[in-house]
Amino acid sequence: MITSEVENYPGFDHGIQGPDLMAIMRKQAERFETRFITKNVTKVDFSKRPFKLWIEDELIQAKAVIIATGASAKWLGIPSEQTFMGKGVSACATCDGAFFKKQDVVVVGGGDTAMEEANFLTRFCNKIYLVHRRDEFRASKIMQERVLKNPKVEVIYDTKVDEILGDMKGVNKVRLKNIKSNQTREVSVTGIFMAIGHKPNTEIFKEFIKLDQAEYIQTKPGTTQTNVEGVFAAGDVQDHIYRQAVTAAGTGCMAALEAERFLERNH
Ligand code: NDP
Repeated sequence: MITSEVENYPGFDHGIQGPDLMAIMRKQAERFETRFITKNVTKVDFSKRPFKLWIEDELIQAKAVIIATGASAKWLGIPSEQTFMGKGVSACATCDGAFFKKQDVVVVGGGDTAMEEANFLTRFCNKIYLVHRRDEFRASKIMQERVLKNPKVEVIYDTKVDEILGDMKGVNKVRLKNIKSNQTREVSVTGIFMAIGHKPNTEIFKEFIKLDQAEYIQTKPGTTQTNVEGVFAAGDVQDHIYRQAVTAAGTGCMAALEAERFLERNH
């Protein structure tokens, strides 16, 4: 819902806006009489079947559950980030990179995602400033080397983003602050990509559902089954590797088939 143009979802040869894609998917599900409740699930009890889910104060009981709550990109938390969201501020180079052809951009982060995004952006952009808060990357050696060798990337260590600056048209500068010297400098860029990690939306499930170290839901390899029989997980909430709309839709299909088979066996 928060991405702008989706260029890589199969079947849309001219791309499609994220919210439009969601609206079409919803309509398609309505055709098969899906009922929608657009509210937050606040609590669950998966200790026995039927499973219990509280939607605010209302209790819903279910014979099977598919969790598809996704993962949220982490943000820096500075106010200007919100101001320019979608107007130069992005957390997904794969989604938005192509809008920055021949332009200069900043990538923030020092992990594999930051390396991957910086590298990916060199296909489109003129110059990439890779800004990291420490003097060494946590990314794997091979990913680092690829970036460090690329002449389009300038690495700026020991530095945080102080402010994102711009006008009605969007971002036009980023002010950076060296955390050792406290010196600031401005770089003229039209985009800034946050690559500082993701947080899976698993908080309300963790009492019952097995999570990995990074709090993603653990599923049995090759399936969408969680540790609780009858509870399945699909999409980014259980996948920190691919994180694409198409892979999420694919695991969603797997979860639907597995839930159906489970219900046939367990009325
Ligand atoms: P990581 O948590 O590994 O890295 C996040 C980076 O962002 C760190 O360098 C961290 O700095 C920095 N950071 C975090 N918070 C802030 C902040 N508030 N301000 C400034 N900088 C911040 O996340 P990734 O998304 O990079 O990777 C997640 C997982 O996915 C990893 O296991 C990774 O290996 C994997 N992955 C693998 C890929 C591949 O193999 N092709 C591609 C992409 C991801 P610091 O280092 O100082 O903590």
